[in-house]
Amino acid sequence: MPASLAPAASFIRQGRLDLTPSLVHLLRGKWTDLPPIPHGRTPPLPRYHAYGTLPAMHPRVDLAGLPFADFLAWARGLVGHGDRFHRALYRQVLTTGTFAPRSLAAWREAEAQRPGVIAILEAAAAPVQRPTVVRTRAGHDPQHGETIKLVIRLHDGLEAEAVLIPMRAAVGQASHHTLCVSSQVGCKMGCAFCHTANMGLVRQLAPHEIVGQYLATVAHTGIVPRNVVFMGMGEPLDNLDAVAQAVAVFTARPGLGLADRHVTISTVGRVDGLARLPALGLSRVNLAVSLTAADDELRSRLMPINRTADLATLKRALLAYPLPADRRLLIGYVLLAGVNDRVVDAERLIAWLAGLRSMVNLIPFNDYAGSAFRRPDDDAILAFRAHLTAAGVHVRLRLTKGDDCMAACGQLGNPGLRQRRPAAARGHSVIG
Ligand code: SF4
Repeated sequence: MPASLAPAASFIRQGRLDLTPSLVHLLRGKWTDLPPIPHGRTPPLPRYHAYGTLPAMHPRVDLAGLPFADFLAWARGLVGHGDRFHRALYRQVLTTGTFAPRSLAAWREAEAQRPGVIAILEAAAAPVQRPTVVRTRAGHDPQHGETIKLVIRLHDGLEAEAVLIPMRAAVGQASHHTLCVSSQVGCKMGCAFCHTANMGLVRQLAPHEIVGQYLATVAHTGIVPRNVVFMGMGEPLDNLDAVAQAVAVFTARPGLGLADRHVTISTVGRVDGLARLPALGLSRVNLAVSLTAADDELRSRLMPINRTADLATLKRALLAYPLPADRRLLIGYVLLAGVNDRVVDAERLIAWLAGLRSMVNLIPFNDYAGSAFRRPDDDAILAFRAHLTAAGVHVRLRLTKGDDCMAACGQLGNPGLRQRRPAAARGHSVIG
């Protein structure tokens, strides 16, 4: 082994890397066209440092959280080389969840020209770039196929949950899949009908942990979802910077390259977050707002966010939102028997929707043990829908998928974690 590669070998053995002058020379002086940097100084940290993905002097990076431009800067900073080499690596990370330059023809070619270059890369990133699926639960619906809840173990032992949902194209046929991802472990929003709310907020997920749910799902099931919806555990706008970065990765080419219209961010209506979405480049993805009541008193009881941003405030924010001409706002309405499924509730909803280009997603409540709420019977659900459609409201009656495996909307989470999380992470729940 060349002496210059000894530090990389030491890193592989000991799990750390000493940036000796020779390695700095190797990384920055000899093999790249970037100016050499003096020993002891590190390059400026990119913005994803906030999530701990690139700690100073620690080169192991969680690559699945990097938009392509950031990945390019990282890889070129290490070994130089043309973009086509890095494009192949990036595609590999985001389609397989692995980092294995030796398996790529382009990098074998590079290695032949500059022996040792692959060792530098291997020393800087782990070979597996996705978390592990530790449990799954599947629910079968003869009409739509199998909905799968995946429990995914994170580096600190906490778990994120994702749900893979078949979308029907023709009767009995799933033509594509939607992956519902979590943006947080737990949630502090305290919606009264939601199982996740019982956890409180345990912690935010980093961008690579959000994208990692997709990579782990593909690796575990062999299914490549076409759509991603942020409707799992957590309020996405409560972790907006990480969500924005994850969306940049989901839609990046090369890489996953999901179309903007195939990504949906759902919020309880955090107006401060809504105002930030356009500046973060997120106004091209779909926006869903969970409403569930069009009466302030009722909504404040069901969704505590309404106590800080009432229905009038939320509507003003949505009217000001730069919705693309070819889109509608998705308005989520969880139907709760005897609570918000009456004629008067439908009429309030119709009135509140006036002036908004929208589509209402009716979601019959998914029962779970211990909940005080009940799902309306089918007649009540259909009557509510009929009332809305008669008034010209676009309505989608969401076919509940996964409620037999606790994978349906509002059923995610493990409230037992609330007791186990560290004291420093507690204390923000808005549950009364
Ligand atoms: S419905 Fe969504 S925002 Fe409300 S508590 Fe549940 S996860 Fe949080």
